[in-house]
Amino acid sequence: MRRSGGLPGGRAGLSSHGPPAQGLAAGLVEPRHAELFSLALRFGPVTRGQLAAWTGLDTSTVTRSLRPLIDDDYLRESGPPPAGRTTAGRGRPVQALSVNPGRHVAIGVKLGPSAVSAVLTDLSATVLARHAAPLVSTEPATALATICEVVDELLSTSGRDRTDVLGVGVGLSGHVEPESGSCRLSAILGWRDVPVRAPLADLLDLPVVVQNDVNTLALAEHWFGRGRGTSTLAVVTLGIGIGCGLVLGDRLHTGERGIAGELGHLPLDPQGRLCTCGARGCLEALAGDAAICELSGCSSVADAMTTAAGRGVTAARARKAFHDAGDALGRGLAGLCNLIDPELVIIAGESAVAFDLMEPAVRESLAVHGFSGVSSEVRIVADPGQEDLWTRGAASLAIRAGVGQL
Ligand SMILES: [Zn+2]
Repeated sequence: MRRSGGLPGGRAGLSSHGPPAQGLAAGLVEPRHAELFSLALRFGPVTRGQLAAWTGLDTSTVTRSLRPLIDDDYLRESGPPPAGRTTAGRGRPVQALSVNPGRHVAIGVKLGPSAVSAVLTDLSATVLARHAAPLVSTEPATALATICEVVDELLSTSGRDRTDVLGVGVGLSGHVEPESGSCRLSAILGWRDVPVRAPLADLLDLPVVVQNDVNTLALAEHWFGRGRGTSTLAVVTLGIGIGCGLVLGDRLHTGERGIAGELGHLPLDPQGRLCTCGARGCLEALAGDAAICELSGCSSVADAMTTAAGRGVTAARARKAFHDAGDALGRGLAGLCNLIDPELVIIAGESAVAFDLMEPAVRESLAVHGFSGVSSEVRIVADPGQEDLWTRGAASLAIRAGVGQL
């Protein structure tokens, strides 16, 4: 983690980026408060001196600006820092500051085609409670009503009041327009131009923020996961589709229309397998679950993994399927790395469990197509599925919107 010799993550301050997010916490409306609080959330415990160095403010301004945050219990003195100076002149001990993670809770909702899942977390994205309900129909009114039921149930079982809630983050598969919070297109939900944020905020009487679900994973990994301390990273999800969330210079990059990161539709082979998008030879058509199943002759990726561990012709065929998918994935990652030069690529999603079977081919392919040593220098780590992966991602979205740092 880069925390000395400059600003954390190598960036030039936080407050100059983008418009303030929807639903900023009441105590963080002042941009400087939001900036200092978010630095403590990302890198804490932190000292006033560190905050001054990272923001370019003088220490007395930092100290003055921190006072309301301490008075309002957003930040707490947490004793001497783990390392470094222990006195601030005249023998006064340096006090590090830590975020009070229980100051607010956030709610993360994953809207899927057959269920609504949600978690309630503290400000460090630690899951405190979870709840899910089946979705009887993806009709928008039904989906929004089901989200409301799940949120109400989470609040009542956890004994939290609405006033404790920083915000509600919603992740869904599809094209979400970040500014309006509308879903422009979701094949999996059968939606086209469905407003989500405004009607849901009215129904819940809470701040709501909506994003593509893979983008929420990128936000979660960047602040609360393996990407902590990095500035530029990509999260690539493997499964039925291949998705990608991008954090560039500490900001989620969604593009002009919200479709940035469609790595799955990177055109790799004009004569290749037909893709769900109608084109041929997209990465997703060559390395998605359907490709692995077809190449291996197995009914699922899990089945192909089991088969690949065996002996004989069918096992060799399954291993070849993972090799070929890995080869295509490596070319896709080379394109990604050549384009954005990330510090870290995290492989996530339901089929990330199979990444180690693809990894040798991925690395070979990346070595061939990656520019100027990128293949040996970029870190690629697999983060196989976990119970709260998508919902915690959505909660991270709510937290980051609530502290004005999307
Ligand atoms: Zn495609």
